[in-house]
Amino acid sequence: METIAFIGLGNMGGPMALNLLNAKLSVKVYDLVDSLAKPLADAGATVCQDLQSVVEDADVVITMLPAGEHVRAVYLGSSDRQGLLTHIKQGTLIIDSSTIDPESARLVGDAAQERGIYFADAPVSGGVAGAKAGTLTFIVGGSDESFHKAQQVLQHMGKNIFHAGPTGSGQMGKICNNLMLGILMTGTCEALNLGIDNGLDPKVLSNIMLQSSGRNWALELYNPCPGVMENAPASNRYQPGFMSKLMLKDLGLGLEAATKSQSSVPMGALARNLYALHNMQGNEELDFSSLFEFYQSKANK
Ligand code: NAD
Repeated sequence: METIAFIGLGNMGGPMALNLLNAKLSVKVYDLVDSLAKPLADAGATVCQDLQSVVEDADVVITMLPAGEHVRAVYLGSSDRQGLLTHIKQGTLIIDSSTIDPESARLVGDAAQERGIYFADAPVSGGVAGAKAGTLTFIVGGSDESFHKAQQVLQHMGKNIFHAGPTGSGQMGKICNNLMLGILMTGTCEALNLGIDNGLDPKVLSNIMLQSSGRNWALELYNPCPGVMENAPASNRYQPGFMSKLMLKDLGLGLEAATKSQSSVPMGALARNLYALHNMQGNEELDFSSLFEFYQSKANK
């Protein structure tokens, strides 16, 4: 049986690794925070004490880390430490599911390829709920061979697996999606708040827009106005969910990519700035739909 090394057991990585264990796969785990490994150890994972031992003898290495700098440091090393690529055996498949800049993905992917190691960038959509339910969407970049190998593992953690193109394309696909999501959410908050300020009932207005041309994902599944949708984070004090700080990070990645390709992203830039202001007001841990509160006048709060 193949051995999978899983590095980064946070909000997303923890439940993803658990799904691999539930599929009866052999899983070794590591996180800088020891306590995060406990539920996985209980489910049968081998807990390792450092990065090097977790990749030893692994056939597949998965990382679910905060940002590009962490992914680069883990695989390529830093001034005081060698990177994991020097410890991973030839023929191993690396899947990086963190959301990072495409350039970092290509940097690690190229270095892996030089050593005869397969690489796929495979960021996810679906949030913590999708990670727990095993219904994530994976947006994969890499060679056809890396993609086909990655599919075998990703199927245990997700429902939809897309091949976006060569290395880095997975990250680019994810960045485009979240740029649109950020814009859609700000627009939805804005329209709902305008309606409320002018005497409309948000439930009635939401229904009208759902059956009209303003229909979108946020209105359908994630209404940002408290009380409109029972199961949405908005009706639970904007918790849990996809944190505003992560939306800010993803919109920032969109702007970085646009600068490099000299693309115009005026709406994305506006959405990023709105999230920056919202986060500065102490909302970074709240779900990203909490931007609705940013629009609300005191009288409505
Ligand atoms: P998190 O902060 O909860 O988890 C990251 C984990 O990585 C932490 O437990 C941290 O200790 C660990 N870590 C950092 N450096 C490490 C190292 N050198 N060695 C071992 N472990 C290390 O973050 P998360 O919410 O799980 O998100 C992970 C990635 O997934 C991010 O890139 C994020 O943008 C992306 N993402 C998150 C969501 C979400 O809803 N949370 C949704 C989609 C994508």
